[in-house]
Amino acid sequence: MTAPPNRHATESHTPDSDRAGSNHADANDVKQASESEQITTCQVCGSTERELKFEDGPYKVYTCTSCTFVYVTPRLTGQALLDVYNETYWKSDNPKERGYADYAKESALYLKTYKKRMKLVSKWLPQPGRILDVGCAAGYFLRVAQQHGHDVHGVELSEAIAKEAIESLGPDRVYNGFLDDAVKARGWQEQSFDLITIWDVIEHVPEPQGLLDSIRKLLKPGGKLLLETQNVESRLANKLGKLWHHYKHDEHLYHFNPSTIERLLSDCNFKVLTCGSAYAGKYVSFGFLAERAGRLGKIPGLLAKPLALLKPCNLYINPHDEIIVIAEPK
Ligand SMILES: [Zn+2]
Repeated sequence: MTAPPNRHATESHTPDSDRAGSNHADANDVKQASESEQITTCQVCGSTERELKFEDGPYKVYTCTSCTFVYVTPRLTGQALLDVYNETYWKSDNPKERGYADYAKESALYLKTYKKRMKLVSKWLPQPGRILDVGCAAGYFLRVAQQHGHDVHGVELSEAIAKEAIESLGPDRVYNGFLDDAVKARGWQEQSFDLITIWDVIEHVPEPQGLLDSIRKLLKPGGKLLLETQNVESRLANKLGKLWHHYKHDEHLYHFNPSTIERLLSDCNFKVLTCGSAYAGKYVSFGFLAERAGRLGKIPGLLAKPLALLKPCNLYINPHDEIIVIAEPK
């Protein structure tokens, strides 16, 4: 998750944590942070032309008028940005602002989600192969992929959650740190992976081009990149406006749409093969749905309250506000 300049992030993935709401309990956090910066240029096309989408506390969310990329300013930098992903990110008492209510507690739901997504993975990698998950978090995707016979490896920057992945998969399979450091430490050769996944990672990375360059080098010719991110131009995002649960400004620095993610990938010498939301749904608990409704306001929250009583049950939902892109090195 995030990286200082020239260090490539390894992100925390998974069906992303969610929030909605625009009231910042600590609206001055970012102002008080010793390390924050104003962003004036589009990371995708370099343009400074932009339109204010909305303001939220100390943050401004802009749309680049040249390429439609959406980005947040100001943002944390350096260690302040890395610190976002400490223990409290994975078990957050304010998940609508940052992180997950209780990531580990939802493990069964993540595993079930990845089992479903393996259908997509198997389409592009039908035989057992060598897989790297960048930003593997607790390693849930890797556990599922391993059950399908793949040779799995993971990188995770957040020590707080990498511990769990190391515990379940072993220290030889999961590296806690930056991707480029993992490449050196593990002696990974160029063109040595069949598939590299980055689930809900790219929007957290200040310099995504660096991360994508490293990934492209590691992929075999014809190897596939599977990338999931939110779609800021989805119907749900447009409908909810600033209440869209993916606006979490400390961590989601960027918001892509199909056009901007394809442009970024193309600029980084990837050829996009498919881009869609068909497999981007996830299993959630009824308690989660009730919690989310509560974030949209008092009345939706009250109406949804009985759902929380069904907490042990879960269901698959796909609001089609995330996209999964399959790409390969050009
Ligand atoms: Zn732009």
